[in-house]
Amino acid sequence: MALSIDEARAQVLAAVRPLPSEDVAVQDALGRVLAEDIVAQRDVPSFANSAMDGFAVRSGPAGRALRVVGESRAGAPSAVPVGDGEAVRISTGAALPEGADAVLQVECVTVDGDRVTLGDDVDPGRNVRPAGDDVRAGATVLPRGARMGAAEIGIAVVAGRGTVACAHTPRVVVLATGDELVAPGEPLGPGQLHNSNAATLAALATQSGARVLRTGVVADTEHATRAAIAAALDEADVLVLSGGVSVGPHDHVKPALEALGVREVFWRVALRPGRPTWFGTREDTLVFGLPGNPVSAMVTFMLFARPALGAMQGAPHAPEWVVARLAEAIPRHPDRDECVRVSLSDGLATPTGPQGSHQLSSMLGADGFAIVTAGTGSAQPGDQVVVELV
Ligand code: AMP
Ligand code: MG
Repeated sequence: MALSIDEARAQVLAAVRPLPSEDVAVQDALGRVLAEDIVAQRDVPSFANSAMDGFAVRSGPAGRALRVVGESRAGAPSAVPVGDGEAVRISTGAALPEGADAVLQVECVTVDGDRVTLGDDVDPGRNVRPAGDDVRAGATVLPRGARMGAAEIGIAVVAGRGTVACAHTPRVVVLATGDELVAPGEPLGPGQLHNSNAATLAALATQSGARVLRTGVVADTEHATRAAIAAALDEADVLVLSGGVSVGPHDHVKPALEALGVREVFWRVALRPGRPTWFGTREDTLVFGLPGNPVSAMVTFMLFARPALGAMQGAPHAPEWVVARLAEAIPRHPDRDECVRVSLSDGLATPTGPQGSHQLSSMLGADGFAIVTAGTGSAQPGDQVVVELV
């Protein structure tokens, strides 16, 4: 009995050893996963400042004519405080001078030499951004395990950090097996096809926060397969293979892995597409032997290799899914759960097109995999399905 998707994924995650951490310059941390909580070292903003260009004043009624005694500019706070009957010219973001509790914007005043007449009542706090109204000193602004995007980088900077501790980037080698493979852009001979898997799997690995050391193509011989895998095992934290993992006379991956001391954790998952998926480990190195069909390769990478890469970086495994209604009838496979590529709209899951494991176009526009569970008959239009978002 082949494993279910969830069982297989659990076995993969159980085999993951998290990578150590290193300090990374915050501006270089895009896509990295934090190995520490980031705590604000001070209030942000660190001083009360003006939300407008205008005049810092003491709150009070309209009509007052005040003497302008100084200026507060960005990076150059006023040297003088604001007393009764006084105002300080102030720029957006500049520090609120001592003595002032509000700012009246320039549009609401009349300036005449060093006199400014207020055209509006000024409540306390008007146009003032208090210290700490974005982030409080001591607050945890980012948890360990968060992946650094542009906003996370910005928050780490304002929290006071120049470097952040991040998990090491997993090193990935992608090897595509097959005598039929031709490099992108090259002409095809009889029976040949373009090696799309090396490109899609490398792209998925990169999107998962990995560094793809290289991709390679491996001929369908025992010797070439073993040599290529041996070299890759010495470089990579994760080796991703495509093709050659079935039991035909030209499938050399499984015996090569066994000969090289990679321990099989599982082979075959009750999954369509992607049944012949193989997974194993050698010490801390993970090896995924993914099926060669282009959709199977992508689907199984997304289901199994992507969470492993996340877990190696310390990112919590949290598959996102929604419940939707099927737009079309889908015949159930007798003993495999099917990942139907669907687009989602208004709670409706619509298959992206013909769903063959070779039909890569079915991956275009896919928001997720609708899991049509094994059984008899068909899932019907309107039936509820779980959709794992991709
Ligand atoms: P295999 O798992 O080696 O039997 O491969 C199954 C099928 O997947 C092959 O017959 C090819 O049509 C296709 N295939 C294998 N490798 C690739 C690849 N790298 N890129 C695109 N298609 C592939
Ligand atoms: Mg093959």
